[in-house]
Amino acid sequence: MFDYHVHTSFSADSHMSMKAACDAAVEKGIKEIAFTEHLDIIYPNSNLKWDFDYEEYNKEVRHLQETFRNRLTIVRGVEVGLHPSGYDSAAAFIDIGGFDFVIGSVHVVDDKDLHEGAFFQKRTLNQAIYDYFCCLNQQVKDFDNFNVLGHLDLVKRYLRYLNCSAADVKWQDYVAIIEDTLKALIESGRGIEVNMSGFRYGLGCSLPSRDVIKLYYDLGGEIITVGSDAHYEECVGLNIDKGVSLLREIGFRYVTTFKERKPIFNRI
Ligand SMILES: [Zn+2]
Ligand SMILES: [Zn+2]
Repeated sequence: MFDYHVHTSFSADSHMSMKAACDAAVEKGIKEIAFTEHLDIIYPNSNLKWDFDYEEYNKEVRHLQETFRNRLTIVRGVEVGLHPSGYDSAAAFIDIGGFDFVIGSVHVVDDKDLHEGAFFQKRTLNQAIYDYFCCLNQQVKDFDNFNVLGHLDLVKRYLRYLNCSAADVKWQDYVAIIEDTLKALIESGRGIEVNMSGFRYGLGCSLPSRDVIKLYYDLGGEIITVGSDAHYEECVGLNIDKGVSLLREIGFRYVTTFKERKPIFNRI
């Protein structure tokens, strides 16, 4: 099993030490873990520092790779929050950091934070979903320095700001733009992640949902990672087996891991 989305104290919103994450991974039978720390160079209205010291990060990973040798493979990753004003700085950080794996994620739309709900003010449900997917589509096309697109339908996690839930959305209305986004990823040698945090946030599904993963499969998508998006020890490896089963059931025969930004296909 591989957990390809884990945050530690190098991320502004986690206090978990890397060592604790590694211990938890070993305990849960995870074979390989990717630390994907937050890099949101442009983040509106935040007091937190959404970047990290990649030299310290590399030093700590190297130390733990030695400590956990033969027990756990540790991959150096980063989760880049996409923002048009931050593309150049993000690309420079990624290149200098020398990461194995990069997730590209949209956390901010129209300069508004999805998590804090600012984005949902003055938008209807339909406008919010449509604007989110338009932004995602544009960013995927404008910035290609990442391996997989993170939590593709993240917007569904925050619909409480509109007093709605994912069940209220007519997802069929957005298939065209989702399909166009998936095609852009596939054509450029990138993929998607299956983010299992949706289960612990009570959504009862992964991000993206099964239908989107199936669409990706039908379009010929092959690069796909599975991650817990853990910020705490108890979440490391959580529901990864469920994610792999979902992939198998859809038809995937491989799950992807990365080394030096190159995909490795592991039979499932
Ligand atoms: Zn994220
Ligand atoms: Zn994350």
